[in-house]
Amino acid sequence: MSRMSETETSSATAAPTDLYLDTAASEAVSRAAIEAMLPFLTEAYGNPSSVHAEGATAARALEAARASFAADLGAHPGDVVFTSGGTESDNLAIKGVALAQVRRENAARDAAAAGVGSTSAASACANPEHTAHPRRILISAVEHPAVAESAQWLHDFFGFDVVRIPVDAQAHLDLAALEREAQRGASLACVMMANNEVGTVEPVAQAVRICHGAGVPVHVDAVQAAGTIPVDFRGLDADTMAVSGHKFGAPKGLGALLVRGRTPIEPLISGGGQERGLRSGTQNVAGAVALAVALHEACETMERNSTALAASRDALVRAVLEAVPTARVTGDPVHRLPGHASFVFPGVTGEALLVDLDARGIEVSSGSACAVGRHEAPGTLLAMGLSEVEAKAAIRFSFRAPLADADIRRIAAALRASLIALHVPGIE
Ligand code: PLP
Repeated sequence: MSRMSETETSSATAAPTDLYLDTAASEAVSRAAIEAMLPFLTEAYGNPSSVHAEGATAARALEAARASFAADLGAHPGDVVFTSGGTESDNLAIKGVALAQVRRENAARDAAAAGVGSTSAASACANPEHTAHPRRILISAVEHPAVAESAQWLHDFFGFDVVRIPVDAQAHLDLAALEREAQRGASLACVMMANNEVGTVEPVAQAVRICHGAGVPVHVDAVQAAGTIPVDFRGLDADTMAVSGHKFGAPKGLGALLVRGRTPIEPLISGGGQERGLRSGTQNVAGAVALAVALHEACETMERNSTALAASRDALVRAVLEAVPTARVTGDPVHRLPGHASFVFPGVTGEALLVDLDARGIEVSSGSACAVGRHEAPGTLLAMGLSEVEAKAAIRFSFRAPLADADIRRIAAALRASLIALHVPGIE
């Protein structure tokens, strides 16, 4: 790197450091995770499926990581299928459970065609638990595209009906609507533990009880929750659960699907049968170690920090509403992720605002997959009943460490300056 000129050096020193407020999108890899994974990249690099000593060392590390990771999510080690992250985990759960149903239907049809009434396939399919599902996938109307698009894929290729369960004005799942649809039967219901766009913590335990009461298995997307709020996979009695490492300090491209042994599921990646046959391919041992260490660290920090984190979130909300009285908080004001504050700012687009805030060193998100010049309204806000114009005025602040008072003041002042610069009516 070339040496900076004196002017460059002094202006670099004078500029305030950027405030990164987009941890719901991704965050820095923890030092402890990097240090823990290093030996498995440099010295203990064996393939965990190899029988020699190097392989055994790698396998031991993989299983230790699995056990630690499971414990921090209230799961059993055998529930954990390591994947490449939240998107893959959602895909595996939704397509895998639906394809297992297609396999059972095919087996029942073949057995019926062969006139065999008592083969094991036919008798397995005689179990109402296994056959009663119509090809329907229930998804909450605020799911991440990794869920919504997986369900759509099942519609496109296998004719599954995708039924969207509505939410209220704060993005809470409509449990009565879920119950009505679950009672009509479904292959799977998909609910998220915490919403990525507005931070609302969803009534997942009730959703699981309702769906199980109707014999419908449940997939939980816990990508925004794991490492941020307590997650208890077995306690919740969910059937599958998606987790992503880069939301809690592991490198990107790492995650897991938790799967109960009772849940019929087909793999999407075929090969050597690693990860209980559900995700073939040589495991990323160093990645699994990083995942476990980062999650453990995040859970310890959560215990210490969550009260302070929620207090600084509430202080940020107050400061923003004071600086910009026209702003509105989106999502549940109380039952929301502790480091997540989201708003709409009438009279501006989230895109314009985030670009202006970025120039002022405040890095936020509009809460949707957003690229400059291709700004879509966040789906969660539309599902909550906001108009397209209102939904496009959304901004999300997300952070994993409590904010200093000075930072809160800086954010509120920058926000106000941006809105003035963007000529938003009513702000002077
Ligand atoms: N589900 C939710 C709720 C998310 O917020 C995200 C990512 O932001 C994903 C799934 C996808 O996770 P990944 O980025 O690990 O693919």
